[in-house]
Amino acid sequence: MTDVLSTQAHNTLPNLIGMSPDQMAEAMPVIGEKPFRAKQLWNWIYIRGAKSFDEMTNLSKAMREKLPQHFRLSRPEVVRHLISTDGTQKWLFRLDDGNEVEAVFIPEDGRGALCISSQVGCTLNCDFCNTGTQRMVRNLTAGEIVGQLLVARDDNDDWVAEREKRKITNIVMMGMGEPLMNFDNVRDALNIIKNDAGISISRRRITLSTAGVVPQIKRCGDEIDVDLAVSLHAARDELRNVLVPINKKYPLDELLKAVAAYPGARNSRRITMEYVMIKDVNDSPEDARLLAKLMKKYNIPAKFNLIPFNPWPGTDYETSSNNACHRFSSILNDLGYSAPIRSPRGRDIMAACGQLKSDSENQKLKAIQAKRETPAAQ
Ligand code: SF4
Repeated sequence: MTDVLSTQAHNTLPNLIGMSPDQMAEAMPVIGEKPFRAKQLWNWIYIRGAKSFDEMTNLSKAMREKLPQHFRLSRPEVVRHLISTDGTQKWLFRLDDGNEVEAVFIPEDGRGALCISSQVGCTLNCDFCNTGTQRMVRNLTAGEIVGQLLVARDDNDDWVAEREKRKITNIVMMGMGEPLMNFDNVRDALNIIKNDAGISISRRRITLSTAGVVPQIKRCGDEIDVDLAVSLHAARDELRNVLVPINKKYPLDELLKAVAAYPGARNSRRITMEYVMIKDVNDSPEDARLLAKLMKKYNIPAKFNLIPFNPWPGTDYETSSNNACHRFSSILNDLGYSAPIRSPRGRDIMAACGQLKSDSENQKLKAIQAKRETPAAQ
């Protein structure tokens, strides 16, 4: 019982992971320390990857003993860490309150992108997305968003000073949740990740993907200024209303005007249009031509990312055929747009968004059912 109580008390302490440099400096006088100590803490947390205060050997013993009484250094707990035969890695994380989220690392030649989550579940209910079937529980804190990256670095021995030797070079806000529905925490987390005195991943190596929360797109340009990706998936409102229901609130015309005004687009930084290829739903040559027409109409410097649908248990949608994907891609190419087909990664470890968490929930449900069905011992 004592252990449970002390863990609960520990979890209510403020987490240093996720605080901005200013917040950390303001927290120091509260424990009787000078604000400059925050710089040392920042260095230990974000340059050296310290997991405990004991490791911070250039701080006085007295300070090292005082810190855990007031703060914690809390990373998400790893429930599962799976590594695919193709090198893709996936984590299922448990947060302090027991909720679970996922992150995926996709290594490629000379670079590696970590896809991280911004919410537990999602409110947007995109029809083709497994996460959309999960109940929206809450927004992640800035510390929980940054914490996914810290654990991925731990597990890949990636706390190396030379940037060019690092495995995780890019960040994609494309995991569970809609990042622009958790704007403030996503902004604060990305500002920590970008900070030159710490993790220092440049804004050009960070992509935020939105399903189209139009009012926040301008704010994203003003306050976060990373590359933008749009989960487009349809070139017609009637179809997009079904696949990405937020389209009913912010239809294509409003969305594409906001995207065209995004700082990246104005400076010819290309905007990525994510397009899940679903058999006989959105993969016709007519759809491809319509997409190119839309990009020209709104003057968007777009590149397409064609993603063959990755089926999950319970969905009726099917993956487009290879032929359909290649035909779609070459029509877009002929009309002046790059449109590579993303090769499926990590299928053996359920790497598509939300699959591992759903699997974990199903296993828990089965365990509860089995318990109910097992007659109690006499
Ligand atoms: S695709 Fe993204 S925005 Fe849509 S339901 Fe899935 S997680 Fe949410």
